[in-house]
Order: sequence, then C-alpha cells, then structure tokens
Amino acid sequence: MPKKKLQKEFQSPKGMRDLLPQDAAFWDKVINVGQELAQDYGFQKIETPLIEDAELFIRGTGETTDIVSKQMYFVKTAGNANLALRPEGTPGVARAYMENGMASLAQPIKLFYYGPMFRHEQPQAGRWRQLYQFGLEIFGDGSAVLDAQTIQFCFHLFRQLGLKKVNIQINSLGCPQCRPAYRRALLDYYRHRKEKLCPDCKRRLKENPLRLLDCKEEKCQPIKTQAPASVDHLCDDCRKHFKEVLEFLDELEIPYFLNSALVRGLDYYTKTIFEVFWDEEGASPMALAGGGRYDNLIKDLGGKPTPAVGMAFGLDRIVDLMKKEQVKVAQGPNFKVFLVQLGAAGRKKCLKLFEKLHQAGILAAESMSRDSIKAQMKSADRLGVKFALILGQQEALDNTVIIRDMQSGVQETVPQDKVVDELKKRFKK
Ligand code: AMP
Repeated sequence: MPKKKLQKEFQSPKGMRDLLPQDAAFWDKVINVGQELAQDYGFQKIETPLIEDAELFIRGTGETTDIVSKQMYFVKTAGNANLALRPEGTPGVARAYMENGMASLAQPIKLFYYGPMFRHEQPQAGRWRQLYQFGLEIFGDGSAVLDAQTIQFCFHLFRQLGLKKVNIQINSLGCPQCRPAYRRALLDYYRHRKEKLCPDCKRRLKENPLRLLDCKEEKCQPIKTQAPASVDHLCDDCRKHFKEVLEFLDELEIPYFLNSALVRGLDYYTKTIFEVFWDEEGASPMALAGGGRYDNLIKDLGGKPTPAVGMAFGLDRIVDLMKKEQVKVAQGPNFKVFLVQLGAAGRKKCLKLFEKLHQAGILAAESMSRDSIKAQMKSADRLGVKFALILGQQEALDNTVIIRDMQSGVQETVPQDKVVDELKKRFKK
C-alpha cells in the first residue's frame, strides 16, 4: 500500500501571531486615537520600509544594544545584501529625513509612524518577536519644550485610551560633554564591587556601563540603588535643559517620577529620557512607552548635527491592557437595516439595493448566500436592527420591497426607488 504523505501543519513562527478580527476594534482604537492626537499635535505621517541596511541599526541604534547585538533578524537575499528587519523605528525615520531633504525645510519636522518591528527575543507575556509600535520623532530643534510635548502626548494618549494607572519616569543622561565623567564615576563605583555582580553585569562593565543600571537581578539591586546618578554629573547646559523639561511638565500638571536608574536600551540617547509604565499591584511594572532626546543620531548616521527627540509606544501591550481593564470600544459597524432575500431574482435585486443603501449612508447587514428566510430573520433579530427589508420573487417582479418593523412586526410594501426616502423618514421619527 502506498504510504500516505504526511501533511505539514503550518503555524505562525515562534513569538509571532495573527491579529484576529475579535481584537480588531481595540487595535483600530489605539491607532485611531494615536493618529488623531499626533495630527492635532502637528505631526505628519511617514512610512518607511520594514527592511533597511543592517548598518543603519548597527550605527544608529548601537552595536552593543541587545536589540541589535542579540535580537536583529538579518535578511538573506540572493544578492547577499546586508539587510535587516527593523528592530525599531527611529533609525529608518532618521534616514528618511536625511534622504528626502527634510533638513532644508522649515524646522522642526514632526513625524509619526506605526507598524511592526522585529526582535528575536525570548517570547513571554507581552513580549513578541513581531511587535507593533507607534512612534513620534521631532527633528531639527533642541528646545526642552519639545521633550515636554512628547511626554504630554503620551500622557494624553493613555488618558484617551482609558488607561489611567500609568506612571511616567524621567531622567537625563547628559551629553557627550558631561557623559564621559559620569561614565567614569559609574565605572569606578562598579569596579570596586565587581565580585558581587551578576555575570551579565560583569559583561556590561566592559561593553556598556550605562546598562548596569538596567539590571533586574536581585543580587545587583543593592549596588544599583547606591550607584552615582547621571543627574549629579550634568554640565550646565544639560542641567538647564532638564530643569526646563521638568518645569514644563509641572506647568502641565503631568505627574512624573525622577528615576536616576533609568537608562533605556538604546545607545543614541542624550539629555532627557523617559519611560511610561503600567503599575499593577502585586506585579512588576510593565513598560508601555519610552523615548527621549537623541541629538547625535543624525550626525552619527552621516548627516549634519541635528537635535531630535522622540518616543514609541507598544501596541501589543496596550491592546492587552485595554481588554483586561475592559475598556469600551465601538464593536463593528452600526447596522440600521437587514436585507432579506428570497430566490434568484430577489437576490439579484438585493445586491443592487445594498449598494443603493450604502450610497445613501444606510448601513445594511445581509446574508446574501443564505436561502432560508427563517435564518435570515433570526440574524436580523440578533443584530437588533430596526427594520428588515424583504425582497422575494414577487417583489423582484413588481420592483417593490417589504419594509418590516422588527419590533411591531408590521409590514409595508413600497416601491424600490422610494425605499431610501421611506427609511430616512422612519429613522427621523
Ligand atoms: P523600546 O523601543 O524598546 O523602547 O520599546 C518601546 C515600547 O515597545 C515598550 O515600552 C513596549 O511597550 C513595546 N515593546 C518593546 N519590545 C516589545 C516586545 N518584544 N513585544 C511587545 N512589545 C514590546
């Protein structure tokens, strides 16, 4: 007997998933609120490719950062090009700013984007390998007011999404003038405690000392809390800038926490950095958004020195939270009528009537492929529409349609070309 060929059961790649129709209303809500708010704040939309030259991230995001050194997806092509799937949005948007001559337009340039990012992380709750971010970037202006505006955007976004338990943490990392002295102070402090550090921190000590402050290991916590703070090593310019950012936030009455251990995972940050967390009793805080100033990125990528500030929030975690917090979102279209058809001629006329109603702005639900009138009436009932429009063989011949009031059961036959006016009249009542 010939062997039965085993069918392979395809699954989405590990750490990646389908965004299903039952969640679509939540995703749409976050994107729509983000987009509307961004436009109200003067941001314009930009879309950049999902794939870029890998070097853009190595030089931009930073060679020693986790998302580049450990988590980047390289793309194999026949031509052997050195491409990578974007692990984050900022370097691509910065490249687009330079490549499209935006530096010669009136500054600042305020852009927003959203879409998938790719990080080969260990999947767990709220951590995906294909994750979705929405981000803002402001190029060409170093004013502290723009740092504050970026945080203001975050604050109002979460409010509008019905997520109130957010906590904004802020710090300043200084600039290339004052950071080296801070780095030395940090190294000096940690070197004296090297034996007590976890293996990861021993590596960070060599490769990326600022990330020492990011350590979550229990044994490193007492060392971390006593570590020198970057805010105590800021030069005059950075101190003044940070003070201004905080004053703007105070003026806006936006609550924040100064966190001297906040460093963020990316290399390009200067001056202000911030992160927005979700606080839940009994659980460790979950990062929902993060951002900061990156005045050297464009220069590091080969452009003219251009100050910039930005932030990104993660849609996956926000959608999960909205569901958990039972935030109300509009579920699908608000159907006004149900089209019930019977027989081939009725179905044809119904298809046409559907289009006519749609053009008149009357949303009609239907179940065109069904034959049973009973099943169709049941669907109409379930949807809670006010009227069913019934079109059978006879109505198709007479160019009429039956309007049935779903509550009273009263039916009236009207000419097909009068049905829109008749419905409008009834809806007015
Ligand atoms: P980052 O670009 O790392 O600063 O991340 C910004 C935001 O994106 C975070 O605050 C998270 O909400 C979200 N995020 C980052 N990594 C992941 C991931 N692997 N899965 C889901 N969301 C993520």
